[in-house]
Amino acid sequence: MSQRLLLRAGLVIDTEPAPVVHRETDVLIEDGRIVAVGRDLRVTDAEVIDASDRIVLPGFVDTHRHLWEVALRGSAVDVDLMVYLQKVLGEHGSRYRPEDVASSNLVGALECLDGGVTTVQDYSHAQQGIEYVDAALDALEASGIRAVYGYGPSPLLGAPVDPAGLRHAVERASGRITPALAAIGPAYAPFDVVRADWELAASLGLRIVVHIGSGPVADEPLALLRDEGLLRSEVLYVHGNTLPDSELKLIAESGAGMSITPVIEDRMEMGGPMAGRLRAAGVTTGLGIDAVTTGAGDMFTTMRSVLALGYKSFTAADVLRMATLEGARALGMDDQIGSLRPGKQADLMLLRASDLNLIGGSQDPIGTVVSNAHPGNIDTVLVAGQVVKRDGRLLTPSLGAALEGVRRTVEYLAN
Ligand SMILES: [Zn+2]
Repeated sequence: MSQRLLLRAGLVIDTEPAPVVHRETDVLIEDGRIVAVGRDLRVTDAEVIDASDRIVLPGFVDTHRHLWEVALRGSAVDVDLMVYLQKVLGEHGSRYRPEDVASSNLVGALECLDGGVTTVQDYSHAQQGIEYVDAALDALEASGIRAVYGYGPSPLLGAPVDPAGLRHAVERASGRITPALAAIGPAYAPFDVVRADWELAASLGLRIVVHIGSGPVADEPLALLRDEGLLRSEVLYVHGNTLPDSELKLIAESGAGMSITPVIEDRMEMGGPMAGRLRAAGVTTGLGIDAVTTGAGDMFTTMRSVLALGYKSFTAADVLRMATLEGARALGMDDQIGSLRPGKQADLMLLRASDLNLIGGSQDPIGTVVSNAHPGNIDTVLVAGQVVKRDGRLLTPSLGAALEGVRRTVEYLAN
């Protein structure tokens, strides 16, 4: 028996090829996938969710986040990038035990789902071996989220990724979890480290996720990769604020994607805003939340920062597309997620249209969601057709134990 779920008569915002509003529209889901979107679908044998007072939209795709930093929330708001690296990665990250990765990853993933992020790229750069892989993957699986799990060492070590740990991740990851290699990269590590990582990723058929910028090791890291024959499309570069336009052009030509994290990039003074420059260069660009040590963990805040931080030519629809379909494309997953196109995974959310901060917004629902909504408006979240949040509450059976785990990590780190 196939499982069918019908979202009846919602205000549907789809994002493909560009954000568009469909009023009083049904979404039919079968065995975890969207099979039809339209008015008055004739369906008799499905479980029905009344969406008549709801805004239905695809789940957000967070293309860059360090989930393990949850137990250090808010601790690096007033510091620059260098102090953040010393404090968060050096002082605390180096002390993390597998159980600390487990508790932060679980609560961080639940925080994502609560806020409508149904896919997260977890850049797990505090990984010290196989037990850490198990801790991170167990947590991601238990949460119910879809994830690209990037396994890598602390950038302070300047070392290549441990092949045994990465191979273990490849063996373990399945279903909604895709493994990736979280490299230190050509801007921050000697080139023998870069070559080892790039070759390891290629040998395992994995995508690389990597922070990028101009210096301190290479001023033009993309030109260096090109010269060494290592430019490839299966890479997600992050930030890049200090890169010259010639480097952005190389990213575009290589077919790789970019993740920008405007809240963190601005607060940590990584350089000027990137969205406009990346669009001009033709680079596929997704949004990332990055670090709850410094910024809020929800996509609404990040979308609003794009509107606020000097990207005047970006419309609300442009920003929503970056938070969904373009983020999916940057991760190479746009054939599976990022919009409500039939055939795709049923990763989506329902917002209460009559909440105090959303009522009156039916004239321009896209503008309203991007400028006014917050995680508290989200009534229902689905990942692969599975309901993970309903009536405004996560369905996680052991939420209390998950929160207690983070408290224990905070206590451990304080001693
Ligand atoms: Zn990062």
